[in-house]
Formats: sequence, structure tokens, C-alpha cells
Amino acid sequence: PPVPEAEALQHADVNALLPRPTAESDKYRRGVVGVAAGSARYPGAAVLAVAGALRGGAGAVRYVGPGTEAVVRHFPETLVSTGGPAKAGRVQAWVVGPGLGDGQEPRETVDEVLASGVPVLVDADGLRLLDHDAVRARTAPTLLTPHAGEAASLLGKPREEVESQRLASVRELAERLRATALLKGSTTLVASPDGAGPVRVNPTGTGWLATAGSGDVLSGVTGALLAAGLPPLDAASAGAYLHGLAARQAAPPPTASTVASTLPTAWRSITREP
Ligand code: AMP
Ligand code: MG
Repeated sequence: PPVPEAEALQHADVNALLPRPTAESDKYRRGVVGVAAGSARYPGAAVLAVAGALRGGAGAVRYVGPGTEAVVRHFPETLVSTGGPAKAGRVQAWVVGPGLGDGQEPRETVDEVLASGVPVLVDADGLRLLDHDAVRARTAPTLLTPHAGEAASLLGKPREEVESQRLASVRELAERLRATALLKGSTTLVASPDGAGPVRVNPTGTGWLATAGSGDVLSGVTGALLAAGLPPLDAASAGAYLHGLAARQAAPPPTASTVASTLPTAWRSITREP
């Protein structure tokens, strides 16, 4: 039979993907997420990405950047590293970009993360600072998580074109950069770099997610799933699924913070046996 163009991830699929700690688990095996995010201008983005990573089940979150004080005040369980990502300790997957700002230092941060040999999720400001050739040259997986405007910049085409051709655009982005691509929007789409298989469509999206900072939370939760060892297509689709469900289950009107704090409720409703 022909392969469908697009396919929605179901509750049972996500249930099968979410990691379960075992007697053999330790925090490293569960996954250490490196978060390189935030700036003087956007200190909250770092906090929200860390929140998403912790509530996405990370064994540990290691933060690198100028937002240490705010991050540790909100989440004392965060490990902090001084110096750039290249000097940080053990990390199983990086999240780079939310609120990172612009300039030489953020650019070096992105370059250092791309030079790591582990899976990398690039979002927001990180997408603007991205060296496309460096992405294509990576051997470990890269996951890009743009909204339509960011995808349009990456592809060098008008935003309207991405918005009217979302399925083709997410595929094109993935193939051009040889990276898994998650295109955010009212229905979030995920495509794999080799163009193989259907595009994943997230069914849990809600207009409540159209709120400042919600994308930063998605980066964190998806980064945690990458660090846990999920392949990027699965991490991205399960991350989007959890994120949407958390926004639906949070007391209305949700904010990015309450979406993050409702991730455990969403997790439980997926993994609870019927
Ligand atoms: P960002 O654009 O980075 O702030 O991320 C916004 C998040 O909210 C993404 O996960 C989007 O998919 C989601 N989102 C934004 N608007 C909507 C909408 N109208 N319906 C469903 N999800 C949305
Ligand atoms: Mg964003």
C-alpha cells in the first residue's frame, strides 16, 4: 500500500515511546540535557526551557548561559556550568537558542553546541545564528524547531509561502539541512531528514499555546526526550504531543509556566494503564 503523506501520532504510540526508569537507571542513563539559552534581555526563556526539560523527565539538566541566577532560583536541581557549552560536563543532548539573543557570544554558543557529538535541538534565536553547513556536516542528529516565520528565514522564502505549504515546507527544511524539522503552528508537523516515511502531525495542539514562552517549554521537554535516547522524529512528536496535552489540562488560561508545571499530569494521563 502507498505510504501516507502525513500521520497523526496516537496516545498509545506516545505511551510506548515515553521512557520508564528501571532499577538500573541512574541520572546519566536517564539523560542529561544541556540547555544553552537566555540572555539579559530574555532571562525567562532559560527558566522555561529548563522547566520543560526537568518536567520532560530529564535525569539532570545542565544550564550554560547568563541566566544562572534566575534558573537556580526557580529550579535548584539545575546543574550550572561556567564557560561555554564546549567546557560543560557530560551532556546527552543539547537545547540551544531560546532567548539567546544576538551577537558574537551567542553565535559561538551555537557553534560549540553544533560541534558536540550528541543530539542537538535548535530553536528560536539559535535558528538565526545557525551555520547551515555545520548542521549538514553533523553526524549526530539535529532537530530544528521553527515556527513559520523562522522556517521562512531558514528557507529564504516569504512566510506566507511556508504558511500555505506547511507540509512541503517542513519536508524541504529537513531535506535541505539534513536535520529533523518540527514546524510549529496550530498543527505542528515533524519531518525526518531523509524524506522517508510520513510527516508526523501532532493532534493535541490548542490555541491556548499561543502565549509567550510556550515554545521555550517545548524545546525543553523535547530535549529531555532526546537525552533519554529517543530518535529525533520520536522525541519531537512525543514532545509536541505532551506539550499540547499539558496546555489542554492546565487550568485555563494557561501560561508557559503552567504548561510546564502541567507536563507531569499530561505524562501521567498518557502512561496510566486503562
Ligand atoms: P513559539 O512560536 O516558539 O512561541 O511557540 C509557540 C507554541 O505554541 C508552538 O508549540 C506552537 O505549535 C503552539 N501554538 C501557537 N499557536 C497555536 C495555535 N493557534 N494552535 C495550536 N498551537 C499553537
Ligand atoms: Mg519561539
